[in-house]
Amino acid sequence: MNSRQPSAQQRPRHRVVIVGGGAGGLELATRLGNRWGRRGKVEIELIDQARTHLWKPLLHEVAAGSMDLGVHELNYLAQSYWHNFRFRLGQMIGLDRERREVQVAPVIDDDGNEITPQRRFHYDTLVIAVGSLTNDFGTPGVKEHAIALETAGEATRFHRRLVNALMRAHAQREPLRPEQLQVAIIGAGATGVELAAELHNTTRELVAYGLDRIDPDQDIKLNVIEAAERILPALPERLSEAASKLLQSKGVRVRTSARVAEVLPGGVRLASGEIIPAELVVWAAGVKAPEVLRNLDGLETNRSNQLLVTQTLQTTRDPDIFAIGDCCACPWPEKATTVPPRAQAAHQQANHMVRQLANRLAGKRLRPFRYRDFGSLVSLGEYTTVGNLMGALVGGSLMIEGYIARLMYRSLYKMHELALHGYTKVALDTLARLITRRTEPHVKLH
Ligand SMILES: Cc1cc2nc3c(=O)[nH]c(=O)nc-3n(C[C@H](O)[C@H](O)[C@H](O)COP(=O)(O)OP(=O)(O)OC[C@H]3O[C@@H](n4cnc5c(N)ncnc54)[C@H](O)[C@@H]3O)c2cc1C
Repeated sequence: MNSRQPSAQQRPRHRVVIVGGGAGGLELATRLGNRWGRRGKVEIELIDQARTHLWKPLLHEVAAGSMDLGVHELNYLAQSYWHNFRFRLGQMIGLDRERREVQVAPVIDDDGNEITPQRRFHYDTLVIAVGSLTNDFGTPGVKEHAIALETAGEATRFHRRLVNALMRAHAQREPLRPEQLQVAIIGAGATGVELAAELHNTTRELVAYGLDRIDPDQDIKLNVIEAAERILPALPERLSEAASKLLQSKGVRVRTSARVAEVLPGGVRLASGEIIPAELVVWAAGVKAPEVLRNLDGLETNRSNQLLVTQTLQTTRDPDIFAIGDCCACPWPEKATTVPPRAQAAHQQANHMVRQLANRLAGKRLRPFRYRDFGSLVSLGEYTTVGNLMGALVGGSLMIEGYIARLMYRSLYKMHELALHGYTKVALDTLARLITRRTEPHVKLH
């Protein structure tokens, strides 16, 4: 060996920094940690603004109260310990590409005391996986009077307000005001539709626990408001028709071609001037990546703030910086568009990044990412699941509904759990959940 060459121990380790521990970023950190963390060949750091992770497609179930957050939430620090990566709490606020540093904001506690100061983290390879948010398109009143289901905290806040609204109505002697027990869900994509179905079911269960002065059919009104001509506009027409019929048969009011002009303290004003009274308003429309990406040291973005990446998932202006999941605009050549913002895309890109990093460390050529569309499934709560399967296996596109669709819908989450915990823990956890489900209320009461 050349004596002037540093030994393996002296050589600085390659440092991979991942910003955002969601559906894509946490799977990536865990898999890289499992593969390289213990052997010390690569240092892996995950930065997230939150302390815990919840897989976002579960948020509507937390909001409706049909899922216990405590059972499904995962602590980043614990996960980093078990899977050999480091976790850093904080929000990315900037980037210095020349010095290869991510800038992270100070973390302040509820009393205004600083927990961690503003920090900088050096990287050799940076993977940005900060996800997306809803887009209110500047609609007045959204920030003040609507809740967006973007975090577990917001989903929990919505659920508490829902339970409070039911208890208030139950205890009140005078007749209900027009907006009382009315919910307006703005945006009839998968999130809005799934939330409406789940709420229909759980509000009935909540009332059955003894709030017997409320008549669910008469008193609780769910409104789904969509600007497009049909609900679930991204899915085939037949599926949106089936979902629309099911919601309406349950008494959910479905309003299409209805653009929201303003959210008011007690309702929603449509562009037509009509006012829909509502005590609780959920904003579930539009998708855009976080603002911080817009001016991230010159990286290229589109109008939705997504980072433009090449087929290798490298950002167009910096080959040391990759982006995965909702926050990237990745070409999908077969459809002449970009890969859709879905959990299955984030999962596939995280898998691809593991192989990509192995190639990068070995000095090999990077491989292009190919998105495999398995179709979309929408859960209509206890009632059914509808969706379409795509791909060679089913010979194009196949509509499915019912029990099989429900199993497949659940399998996407199982894949995420498997990536984070491995087979043994997932099998044992599933068994434990099945046993305790019998002894716990199905709907959260607080
Ligand atoms: C209610 C709901 C239902 C959904 N249902 C489905 C479904 O059924 N099927 C499906 O395929 N997809 C569904 N989706 C979409 C799916 O959740 C996303 O496509 C997926 O979570 C994207 O993964 P990601 O890793 O890109 O980002 P995310 O999972 O959103 O994770 C982003 C992470 O980045 C962190 N972060 C953000 N900004 C910063 C910052 N500046 N600094 C540090 N950390 C930051 C966040 O705290 C978060 O942990 C749903 C989404 C929602 C909201």
